[in-house]
Amino acid sequence: MGKINLLDDQIANQIAAGEVVERPASIVKELVENSIDAGSTKIEIEIREGGLTSIKVKDNGEGIAEDDVEKAFFRHATSKLKDSKDLFRIKTLGFRGEALPSIAAVSSLTLKTSANNYGRGIEVKLEGGKLFEKKEIAFVKGTEIIVENVFYNTPARLKYMKSLQTELGHIIDYVNRLSLAYPNIAISLVHNGRLILRTTGNGKVDHVLGAIYGTSVAKKMIEVKGENLDFKLSGFISKPELTRANKNHITIFVNGRYIKNYLLNQALIRGYKTSLMVNRFPIAVLHLSMDPTLVDVNVHPAKLEARFSKESELIKFIEQAIDKTLNRHTFIPEPIKVP
Ligand code: ADP
Ligand code: MG
Repeated sequence: MGKINLLDDQIANQIAAGEVVERPASIVKELVENSIDAGSTKIEIEIREGGLTSIKVKDNGEGIAEDDVEKAFFRHATSKLKDSKDLFRIKTLGFRGEALPSIAAVSSLTLKTSANNYGRGIEVKLEGGKLFEKKEIAFVKGTEIIVENVFYNTPARLKYMKSLQTELGHIIDYVNRLSLAYPNIAISLVHNGRLILRTTGNGKVDHVLGAIYGTSVAKKMIEVKGENLDFKLSGFISKPELTRANKNHITIFVNGRYIKNYLLNQALIRGYKTSLMVNRFPIAVLHLSMDPTLVDVNVHPAKLEARFSKESELIKFIEQAIDKTLNRHTFIPEPIKVP
């Protein structure tokens, strides 16, 4: 007799959870990305004890139709891809259909949703990925997901969780960057009943910077803009006198996706020439856009890397755009007009 077994869904989901759900911040990320994909203009995030006790994400997006509520927790169940052609023109943040089943597999999860305008919705509850309650409720269009007791059934993972402060730090870091990427969405983050961040959704990145860092910092940020045949850049960078002790306050988005890339960070820093003090780094939010064929965004759920086919050109472009912007701002005198 052969010895190969097909794993049942529950085990498969727990294994996938190991990749998708590294820590509470990854749950926040997956839930919020679903809210964004659902076209939400308002997203409220409420967490307790660094997310380890509970994570609630409530949105005003399109909601999930009654027939789809259970399917949303099946593995590889997604409304965002229909066939393999779609895989090469992904416009949504999610598409793998893995987040909900993975999160549900390692927590107690409640989902409330409504996809209609009549105030009628559905609530489901799952424990360790198993549905045990489904009922009709009164609910306004949108979706609310509450995740409790994260990793209760995977003690090894739970043991790896750092302090409440560390987990909270990861969540704040993620929500800050997200708010910068989506200034059009009103985002709020509450921890243990205390408001940490609230953006208005008025579309202004400098207002979001103010919400995150305070208005005095926001006032020391200057706008950057640049464009050539291949790349377009926009965003805000701090004046050289406003710096931080690490690079954590540099956020770069490529075609709307947050990426971590050492070379692009360095290009930004080099653009400051000699104006930064040693071991001090700017605050910056840069949005880069380019033809999707020029960038390979690694779509592994936990990785934020990207590779560029015109890498050296891109690096030069960023460095020059920053240099030009700062030069414009340091040499205040108006150009002399020759009559
Ligand atoms: P993916 O985002 O890759 O499609 P998920 O497991 O994250 O997979 O979600 C499964 C499906 O559930 C989504 O494709 C979407 O149809 C639905 N869904 C999840 N969250 C929301 C939400 N907040 N609003 C509307 N639909 C949602
Ligand atoms: Mg998703």
